[in-house]
Amino acid sequence: MGNKVVKFGGSSLADANQFRKVADIIKSDAKRKYVVPSAPGKRFSDDVKVTDMLYKCCELAGSGVDFTDDFQLIRDRYNGIISELGIDMSLEDEFDSIVRELKARPAKDFAASRGEYLNGKVLAKYLGFNFVDAADVIVFDTKGSLLLDDTVKAVRAKLSGLDNAVIPGFYGKTTEGYIKTFSRGGSDVTGSIIANAVKADIYENWTDVSGFLVADPRIVENPDVISVITYRELRELAYMGASVLHEDAIFPVRSAGIPINIRNTNRPQDDGTMIVSDDFDFSRESLSHTITGIAGRKGFSTINIEKAMMNSETGFGMKVLKVLFDNGLSFEHMPSGIDTMSITVDSAKLDPVREKVLAGIRKEVAPDHLEIEDGIALLAVVGRRMKNTRGTVARIFASMAHARINVKMIDQGSSELNVIIGVSENDLPEAIRRIYDMFINSEK
Ligand code: ASP
Repeated sequence: MGNKVVKFGGSSLADANQFRKVADIIKSDAKRKYVVPSAPGKRFSDDVKVTDMLYKCCELAGSGVDFTDDFQLIRDRYNGIISELGIDMSLEDEFDSIVRELKARPAKDFAASRGEYLNGKVLAKYLGFNFVDAADVIVFDTKGSLLLDDTVKAVRAKLSGLDNAVIPGFYGKTTEGYIKTFSRGGSDVTGSIIANAVKADIYENWTDVSGFLVADPRIVENPDVISVITYRELRELAYMGASVLHEDAIFPVRSAGIPINIRNTNRPQDDGTMIVSDDFDFSRESLSHTITGIAGRKGFSTINIEKAMMNSETGFGMKVLKVLFDNGLSFEHMPSGIDTMSITVDSAKLDPVREKVLAGIRKEVAPDHLEIEDGIALLAVVGRRMKNTRGTVARIFASMAHARINVKMIDQGSSELNVIIGVSENDLPEAIRRIYDMFINSEK
């Protein structure tokens, strides 16, 4: 029998009722042996996550302010879950020791990590699973970078004799012995590392949505769920702002060829989204849409440069890019014409060096015309099937034309995995809706 690593996010473990759903999910499949919990998240929209409550206590402790009342709220959250589930356990000693530690040494990462630590204790007890402290297996170097090889060895050594385990997400320990967390949402990363170490058949990431959506639900009403997406496609969409999973959660499973399945704790009957390697055998996949997803991001500017005979001036592009390089500015796209060149950059990164970049370009290449246009949005239409389908780009632009949306920039990568379109920020929502209609609604 193989095994599955299952990670449950904060909203999946926000209260006793959610714990019951989680236990049902785990118990319904004997392969779900290794469980990675987050700290209790929000129960309702303006609720506070336990992680944020812990950060607050740490801040108060750091300024020498009494944090008894704030910490009481944390005690109440866990005690509420324990008593409602009727678990025979007490965390009082743990609570007291955390308070003592925060008073003696208010370290942010230690404080935040206790949300997962305590939740792991409760969940392990409730499931009747072994508890394995992430501090004993997830190893960071002194600068705070994960030591993947050491971690994998430690996880294997620890889990090899165990039939099951709950390993809290989000944190580990440095080689100097300090607790260190990943960045926010980092339990996803822990789950991915554990999946790599135990060579899991699959890494199930349980959250409160039924997978990745084809488009942002704030823009497209009730969008379809993406049933299968490759890691490469996911990266393209995530870069454009679509997010469900921590970015660093991809590498450990991707390198080991383990698929990720995004699932919904509140709707376990849904298949969710499968994230698979690029060489996955898609032949058995039921016919799907031409495109996989659409995402867009605002906040870009284009630097437009014109100069007669630019094409015959050797090194023109290099000189311009050197100016960007000297100002620490990276660029997103660079479409060019015979006498024109236009460079798309992130406006927030351009702002502090705007004048220097303009002056630098003037000095280096003496353009006939130079201007910066702000308020640009980039839209990515992503899909592995585009490569073998004709007319995709024509359909994208037909949908733009019908909506009278002006296309400012086009870039299709040589991999034919995505088409990037620059439009005015105001046009972005309508552009996404039109493309969705063209490819998803009309292909139904
Ligand atoms: N509890 C942590 C956070 O709120 C980590 C996680 O949930 O993945 O960011």
